[in-house]
Amino acid sequence: TAHKETHGFQTEVKQLLQLMIHSLYSNKEIFLRELVSNAADASDKLRFKALSDDSLYENDGDLRVRLSVDKDAGTLTISDNGIGMTRDEVIEHLGTIAKSGTAEFFSKLSGDQARDSQLIGQFGVGFYSAFIVADKVTVRTRAAGESADRGVEWQSEGEGSFTVADIDKAGRGTDVILHLKEDEKEFLDDWRLRSIIGKYSDHISVAVQMYKEEVPERDGPDGEKIPAEPAHWETINKATALWTRDKSEVTDEEYKEFYKHISHDFGDPLLWSHNKVEGKTEYTSLLYVPAKAPFDMWNREQKHGLKLYVQRVFIMDDAEQFMPTYLRFVKGVLDSNDLPLNVSREILQDNRISQAMRQGCTKKVLQMLERMAKNEPEQYQSFWKEFGNVLKEGPAEDFSNKEKIAGLLRFASTQQDSDAETVSLDDYIERMKEGQNKIYFITADSYAAAKTSPHLEIFRKKGIEVLLMSERIDEWLMSHLTEYKEKAFQSITKGDLDLGDLDDEESKKAQEQAEKEVEGLTERVKKALGDKVKEVKLSHRLIDSPACVVADDQGMSTQMVKLMQAAGQ
Ligand code: ADP
Ligand code: MG
Repeated sequence: TAHKETHGFQTEVKQLLQLMIHSLYSNKEIFLRELVSNAADASDKLRFKALSDDSLYENDGDLRVRLSVDKDAGTLTISDNGIGMTRDEVIEHLGTIAKSGTAEFFSKLSGDQARDSQLIGQFGVGFYSAFIVADKVTVRTRAAGESADRGVEWQSEGEGSFTVADIDKAGRGTDVILHLKEDEKEFLDDWRLRSIIGKYSDHISVAVQMYKEEVPERDGPDGEKIPAEPAHWETINKATALWTRDKSEVTDEEYKEFYKHISHDFGDPLLWSHNKVEGKTEYTSLLYVPAKAPFDMWNREQKHGLKLYVQRVFIMDDAEQFMPTYLRFVKGVLDSNDLPLNVSREILQDNRISQAMRQGCTKKVLQMLERMAKNEPEQYQSFWKEFGNVLKEGPAEDFSNKEKIAGLLRFASTQQDSDAETVSLDDYIERMKEGQNKIYFITADSYAAAKTSPHLEIFRKKGIEVLLMSERIDEWLMSHLTEYKEKAFQSITKGDLDLGDLDDEESKKAQEQAEKEVEGLTERVKKALGDKVKEVKLSHRLIDSPACVVADDQGMSTQMVKLMQAAGQ
């Protein structure tokens, strides 16, 4: 080995290693899923790169992942002939965490093991999970297209640092060699390895192989001779892309494992939808809604989108063109029959085929959410808690699905005594009073402020339900949502409150009478307040409070004015 250097891990890696070894121990076999998943990704990447440069295969186009053990040395090796890594790539990928959301993740850690292991699961541990079972890891790799003397050896004991050195490596790709800890020798066991692969990696489209020793010629049950089987590499997983299989043949467990592979999430998904679309555009989609929001959901530069394949060849990760931004939490794969293999992000941008697929996928996701809302309201509530505020971006972004998205929204309301957002617009409409033709709502800084607003008094008295909105995005949402099922939305803090047919004749008369009586008073108040107000009016909406501030109908609501002020406008 030559040109050997020692590098320190990025601080976050050190922290992650510590946390992981301690909190994921009870789930330690997942290291194999992570390493096989990386090997499969490396094969996908090579296949893609070779589309434009066949020579990268170096006459070895049979991509596979191999597991082998050396019982004497106590090592388990996961070997692939995929894309490999250069020296720079090794230092970057196996020395830092490049993920967005890293800062959020570390800021959320509490020191409580049970809680933190949950968080780590959500964050994903990837390659570093090797150190759950190994006290030393050696990676030997050579990038496709490089000569044999451009190999790199990375080595670490998973503490503060790692070394990199130049080596010769004839075969392209990566070997990850785990020097198993004294009490992790179970992972040298052939049967144990086969069962883990069966559990975690059946759906991986590249072959996962283990070496099978020669079986000598033997006697069958009826005295016949069963011929000898020579030693060979045996493929132990199904090795067909899961989404190409028939729905009826895929188990829930397999769908869940596949989700973990493509999403780099540890937890199970909440639900999924697998569709083969035929006709003008032909594609297969497998779309998942995660159970938990990622750490970086509010980071605008966050990578999101689907994994794109064209005729089963991997093309790119995070193809964001197939999902609107308000569904950016959706994960999955899309396999197109129509797109060209050399498709680029630029081409996808305004391409007829990709637009049709985007519409189709959007519809599928909305349908899947509708179905869950209807059939599994409790599950839907847990979805809403995680992703409700993202979905609220929908009406502004996706005009054509506005009504559908509105139907999926949930709000707090005066109907119940909690800030839980559980009321749908359909629930609201069903409870509307006779003669009521508007959906009333209030936006405020907090649930408490909304709930105690003096504007609500008249509604309480008349028994009319009002939606209570207090999320920052609600004001924005309501500026794009004007009606639902032909019922207009009305902010109760804006303009003249016309309760329409809900006002009876008698009270109208009383109101007119009262207006006459206070004419002088309103003028005096207007004089006293001067430019601070536009107008002073007698209000019929208050029961207990003497006065309240109202925005005019065309103007911004008080909440919006506050938002603008906070933004320095
Ligand atoms: P992730 O798979 O989520 O990107 P990992 O920690 O599992 O994160 O891997 C980090 C990176 O290291 C990968 O993105 C990849 O670039 C590189 N890598 C890991 N294993 C391999 C491999 N077998 N072949 C090529 N690159 C690899
Ligand atoms: Mg990985």
